[in-house]
Amino acid sequence: MKTISIAIDGPSGAGKSTLARAIAAELGYLYVDTGAIYRTIGYYTLTHGIDPKDSAAVAACLPDIRVELTYGEDGLQHMLLNDRDVTKEIRLPEVSLCASAVSAHREVRAFLLDMQRQLARTHSVIMDGRDIGTVVLPDADVKVYLTASAQARAQRRCAELEERGTPEPFEKVLREIEERDWNDIHRDVAPLRQAEDAVLLDTTDLDFQESKAALLNIIRKRTSL
Ligand code: C5P
Repeated sequence: MKTISIAIDGPSGAGKSTLARAIAAELGYLYVDTGAIYRTIGYYTLTHGIDPKDSAAVAACLPDIRVELTYGEDGLQHMLLNDRDVTKEIRLPEVSLCASAVSAHREVRAFLLDMQRQLARTHSVIMDGRDIGTVVLPDADVKVYLTASAQARAQRRCAELEERGTPEPFEKVLREIEERDWNDIHRDVAPLRQAEDAVLLDTTDLDFQESKAALLNIIRKRTSL
């Protein structure tokens, strides 16, 4: 059976995961959040006292790490780190910058590449990340580069944190978003950029429903869905 792959890339907080999850549910596809995989490695470094910026130290610990991606009965993606479910822990704000730091290392990206490609080989997927359309699935059926202004992304992240009961000051959230953007865009390996054949979708002035409709429209134009 032919599988369909939809690649969604873009900077932190552009709404990739919320939109991709909703659309995957509607189309009956598997939603793969690749940021969670990098977060799992970042979480390992954080809990083992390893400097996530030190490429040699991070590369040396990879043989001790087994990362698995499973889907719970709730249909949600769970991350297992050496058999332990770390789905909740990897969302801690301090893990975000560790994830961004470890993701810059060539060895880490190579370590995780097959796992991501294998999922797309065996399922129809909506995969979101930074390099899905450019590196992981260069032959994806649909590629979308989803973005929004840093201010809009920081505002959304603040609202999300507030809802979770862990509010953070706007300036701090904005600074961290800008720092992660800078890291992701300027790294040598698989930097964040729009694939040449990706459609740009800027959601700065769109709410969730408008963004979802725009994204579905792009997907339908490029597939027979
Ligand atoms: O998407 P999320 O913010 O959870 O990703 C965490 C970090 O993982 C990002 O800041 C980015 O540096 C890294 N990442 C990546 N490539 C991907 C997905 C995420 O480098 N495909």
